[in-house]
Amino acid sequence: MPTKKYIFVTGGVASSLGKGIISASLAKLLQARGFSVTIQKLDPYINVDPGTLNPYEHGECYVTNDGAETDLDLGHYERFINLPTTQDNNITTGSVYQSVINKERKGDYLGKTVQVIPHITDEIKRRIKVLGTKHNFDFIITEIGGTVGDIESQPYLEAIRQLKWELGSENAIVIHLTLVPFLGASGELKTKPTQHSVKLLLENGIQPDILVMRTEKPLNTDIRKKVALFCNVDISSVIESIDASTIYEVPLMMKKERLDVITLKKLRMPEGKEADLAHWKKFVDKVKNPLKKTRIALVGKYVELPDSYISISESIVHAGAVNDCKVSVTNIHSENINESNVEQLLGDFSGIIVAPGFGSRGVEGKIAAVRFARQNNIPFFGICLGLQCAVIEFARSVLKMTGANSREMDRRTPYPVIDLMEEQKGVIDKGGTMRLGAYDCTIDEKSRVYEIYKKKNIRERHRHRYEFNNQYLDEYEKAGMKASGMNPETGLVEIMEIPDHKWFIGVQFHPEYQSTVLKPHPLFVDFIKSVLTIKKEDN
Ligand code: GLN
Repeated sequence: MPTKKYIFVTGGVASSLGKGIISASLAKLLQARGFSVTIQKLDPYINVDPGTLNPYEHGECYVTNDGAETDLDLGHYERFINLPTTQDNNITTGSVYQSVINKERKGDYLGKTVQVIPHITDEIKRRIKVLGTKHNFDFIITEIGGTVGDIESQPYLEAIRQLKWELGSENAIVIHLTLVPFLGASGELKTKPTQHSVKLLLENGIQPDILVMRTEKPLNTDIRKKVALFCNVDISSVIESIDASTIYEVPLMMKKERLDVITLKKLRMPEGKEADLAHWKKFVDKVKNPLKKTRIALVGKYVELPDSYISISESIVHAGAVNDCKVSVTNIHSENINESNVEQLLGDFSGIIVAPGFGSRGVEGKIAAVRFARQNNIPFFGICLGLQCAVIEFARSVLKMTGANSREMDRRTPYPVIDLMEEQKGVIDKGGTMRLGAYDCTIDEKSRVYEIYKKKNIRERHRHRYEFNNQYLDEYEKAGMKASGMNPETGLVEIMEIPDHKWFIGVQFHPEYQSTVLKPHPLFVDFIKSVLTIKKEDN
């Protein structure tokens, strides 16, 4: 079997420079040259997974097919390379310590003092190598979360230093991403932060092989030479990553900068075929030059942080491109919506999405948003809690079930139209215990969603504890809200729709986790198509 090649991506100077996007772009380029690639994220926090984090802390929690709750960067990886990730693609310090401590309790280290080095670092190395051994990839790109110099990232840096040494420089390289700030007052780009950040890496025994520098202005040859000289890399390995208008442009920019070719050279790999990005380029052109425009509202409660709904936003970008349309999404805080201001807040939009969420805060605003969309025939898309709100709204307004609610919001509701799933009833622990990952759904052939998916059997990803209460299904169907998708084994309602409405679909799953550039999700594509039929003044 050919040797696996490992690429480590570290970050310096500042956080949020886009290591995830650089990693995903390099993966895309290598994939377009015919290689198989996967990307992994190492997160330095002590939570075992981000499932127990509030989105305000760390943005969206992304879910894989096999039910891992992961960092949102895995969403970018999947959207770029169109390949599912797994449990093995996200490691947190918490999960590493958990395995080491479990082994210690079992007696696996009997007689030994268990320490950060070698036990924690060995476990990190094992988890990095698993992707090369268990899964058959040519390249494993591992993104190290955090910024060089953080105390909490140190075991990760030590692990990659050791791996680089063990595997040899032809099998493992480090790409370091830094920021080159532009000082307006002197009109200069500054390289000193990059030099310092590389020094910090060197203190940890790591010489970066390639430097990718985030900048708002182009880097001239003098700057590149200076960085190359003081950071000990060859000049062709100093790569510019200039601010882009869309993240999807980054692979094209990295191709121009030859990041893939330099990587292959360092890893003594043949160049493979020329990276064919024709489809990608066409997509980027559509994103940048839309023929139409429209506006939709995304009603949620974590709206202050756009990363909270990143997969939904990206799915809308994909769907917009298919429809040759720029979709502006305005995030509306559900806590601010009530019956009397809903028209004023939502009246200007051609479509309304009600977002996923947990807990009762802001739910009444979401229900008011659903009512407004339903009564005014505005395209409505409810995702997870969004579907549950649609169900509650229908019970209260159409079925006249006063006080109907989800038991999550009101334990004593007289009409628990959304109830805790049977299998959740004994669950006490919060971490990793929801209904997670991909499950089958069978679609009714006489439904709107069947026309959209054009197939009967689908699989979508989940993250919830509550479900539609089937005891009320007859009443809903008689009154015009139909269960058009169900789990074939449990009968759990996965999709509800109102056939008499322009576009009114709620899904218990998260379609946003599966939309990629190559395969935009059909529900988002069709939703935007319907939104485009609604003309508002400034559309
Ligand atoms: N809170 C709801 C549940 O647990 C919805 C979850 C979600 O929107 N992801 O069922």
